[in-house]
Amino acid sequence: MSARLAPESLLAGVDIGGTSIAVRIAGPDLADHGRHAVPTIVGEPEAAGAQVVAAIDAACAALGIERARVVAIGIGVPGHVDPVAGTVRMAVNLGWGQVALREQVQALLPLPVGMDNDVRGAAEGVRARRLLGDLTDFLYVAIGTGIAAGLVVDDRVLRGAHLFAGEIGHLVVEPGGPRCNCGQEGCLEAIAGGPAVAAIARSAVATGMPSRLDPGGAFTAAEVYAASATGDPAARAAVTRAARALARAFATVDAVLDFPAIAIGGGVAAAGPAFFGPLEEALDEIRATSPFAATILPADLIRPLPAGDDAGTWGAVLLARAAAAESV
Ligand SMILES: [Zn+2]
Repeated sequence: MSARLAPESLLAGVDIGGTSIAVRIAGPDLADHGRHAVPTIVGEPEAAGAQVVAAIDAACAALGIERARVVAIGIGVPGHVDPVAGTVRMAVNLGWGQVALREQVQALLPLPVGMDNDVRGAAEGVRARRLLGDLTDFLYVAIGTGIAAGLVVDDRVLRGAHLFAGEIGHLVVEPGGPRCNCGQEGCLEAIAGGPAVAAIARSAVATGMPSRLDPGGAFTAAEVYAASATGDPAARAAVTRAARALARAFATVDAVLDFPAIAIGGGVAAAGPAFFGPLEEALDEIRATSPFAATILPADLIRPLPAGDDAGTWGAVLLARAAAAESV
């Protein structure tokens, strides 16, 4: 499909996050022309399109690229997105309800606009760039404030009847556990999401478990993972609980879809070995319980993505390329 685009044309991939909007500019052959991020203005849904266009303008200026070369836009949104209608139905962390985002963007910049949920877009980016080699079936999981996944089956990303496929953050892994923003109790996200890990460590510190973490509770999930790696008891308890919750969720998903690989991205995974070590231990605990569990959870199940890989913006670039191809 890229063959139809002029070689000098460029694609803008926009990854909207709760704190920043990152833009990657790339060629039709996915040659990288650079990335630039600006802060997100939360709220103001009526100005959502203007924010996207301003972020693209800022990226072009910062990267020394003439904006007229941009021929299509892709947008990943952290929320419930209708990719066909080009609308956002709900993006809680952005303070958006219904937003006709494609229409808003095109009113300012009349170009083809492709859009999707950010994690599904990122999964498409991992698939199309073959970051997991020739695998055509895998799970891409983003662990940050929330937890969500893109399910790649037979070399395409599943959306589901209500566009909710991949919402593994709301698998209940501890019935009666911490209450989740979705209203259920014991969701994966309420135990292993970044704020949840920090909150669970905070309550361990408050109940007097030995810890070098700030007794006032002013610490982040990244600090909990770092402290856990040094053997801090309260931090380790929170990290172990999160790892077991993730392992349980992965075993559940793999019993249904038999994924040979799970790629993990998102801010929490940036903790590196402090995150992946306990996760592997928790998977080993499940593998040891039965030959079936050991088969559906192969030893090389968890695949780190290349360091610094920005799956979100690359996914958005792919959305732009698909939108451009449809419009030709
Ligand atoms: Zn939930």
